[in-house]
Amino acid sequence: MQDYHDATHRSPVTLDPENWDEFRDRAHAMVDKAVDKMMAAQEERVWSPLPERLKTALQHDLANAGSGASVTDEAIESLLPHGVGNTHPRFFGWVHGAGTPANLVADIAAASMNANAGGRDHAAIHVERQLSNWVREIFRFPQSSSGLVVSGTSMATLIALKTARDAGLGFENRVRGVDERKLVGYTSAEAHACNARAFDIIGLGSGALRRVPCDADFRMDIAALKSMIESDRSEGFEPSIVIGTAGTVNTGAIDPLADLADLCTQQDLWFHVDGAFGAAGILSERLAPRLAGIERADSLAFDFHKWLQVNYDAGFVLIRNADLHRQAFSDRPDYLSGVERGLAAANPWPVEFGPELSRGFRALKVWAHLMEFGKERLGALITYNCEQVDYLANRIDQHVSLERLAPTETSICCFRYRRDGLSDDDLDSLNQEIVIRLQEEGIAAPSWTMIKGRLVIRVNITNHRTRFSDIDRLLDAIEEIAPEAAAALDM
Ligand SMILES: *Cc1c(COP(=O)(O)O)cnc(C)c1O
Repeated sequence: MQDYHDATHRSPVTLDPENWDEFRDRAHAMVDKAVDKMMAAQEERVWSPLPERLKTALQHDLANAGSGASVTDEAIESLLPHGVGNTHPRFFGWVHGAGTPANLVADIAAASMNANAGGRDHAAIHVERQLSNWVREIFRFPQSSSGLVVSGTSMATLIALKTARDAGLGFENRVRGVDERKLVGYTSAEAHACNARAFDIIGLGSGALRRVPCDADFRMDIAALKSMIESDRSEGFEPSIVIGTAGTVNTGAIDPLADLADLCTQQDLWFHVDGAFGAAGILSERLAPRLAGIERADSLAFDFHKWLQVNYDAGFVLIRNADLHRQAFSDRPDYLSGVERGLAAANPWPVEFGPELSRGFRALKVWAHLMEFGKERLGALITYNCEQVDYLANRIDQHVSLERLAPTETSICCFRYRRDGLSDDDLDSLNQEIVIRLQEEGIAAPSWTMIKGRLVIRVNITNHRTRFSDIDRLLDAIEEIAPEAAAALDM
């Protein structure tokens, strides 16, 4: 019979290491691999898909007995080269941030604390509060605003729009449901899909989010917006939310935010801004003036993991009126404000401002990132990326076989390769083939999108590792690959 009170007795089920010195070596070895990976970011191929051999290796049954540390760590290491490629300087697809080595440090520390930041009185809660203060100051929001660190702009949008919905419907709908009120919202035809998805999830229906046409610069057309609002009113709908975009995914355009703010004030509408990557431009001397009006939003959703380079995942929702925000998510009755002492203090808790109770200490890496690098340097990187986009646009404009299809305002440039004698449909296929070949050959990773019905090569630069020479390399590669791609397509 075991003596369970013997101080030397080891639990048969603990998950702590038997030998801490061995564990220390093991952890250091993985840190070395991680640092090596980030150090060599520019030397690797941009994208190296997971080889068949490794896909097969993943497909074994979960054994009853664990495989142990060394087998597991080897398996982890084998995955390191096979990311999407966004740590590479020539990753130009979609909108991804490049991440930093410094973030490893904060993430290791956060993992060691294993904090649950849903509530209670501990360091994570106070760090997130201070981070919210910083964000509030950056965007010149009032003291009475509130914020929450979330996984990304999609979640931030959901929280913001639920708050807008509940504020519009008077909060009883949290119990009763949306019933027959016909709340509708407006966003531009170029807006991100997460906005319609949020309308769907909060029960208004994605059809209740009207798509307003854009002007020639891909910005929301205010006159069209006004007339759509009027016609909805005359048909018995309740216009209540306007979503402006600061940096659209297709062309990087910024909607006329100050005009939208004026309109929303005049007509008593909730003004939400999707600033997923573009809101970060507030730190850039070049982009900040273009964002005028963002400080008047009722809510703002944006990401730290895009143009601000924090490692995935980290976004933020900022809401002008903390009371409305809390009323939309809190289940704590007003008379129960929480205790002031003990572990259950530090009210209000983050759980009262979003759908998640258990949530990790994401705020640490964001707070540490802003503290280490500062606003100036992060803003300068954004300006630098804009200059690279200018350079790319200029080179395209001077190139006989390249054609630009949209203005450049922030981080994105849309263009296509062209050759006389090819139809628009042929050019669509050819440009898509060029993009796929660039990705498959590991040279660069732009993506494609449709502009005015035509397929274009879309280059987005939100990457602190990109150099001007990487842009030259991209254009050289396009010139080289285009004839091969055309030949492969029998053009
Ligand atoms: C990326 C993006 C989103 C979605 O953000 P996630 O962080 O991926 O959830 C929304 N809107 C715009 C404009 C974006 O660029």
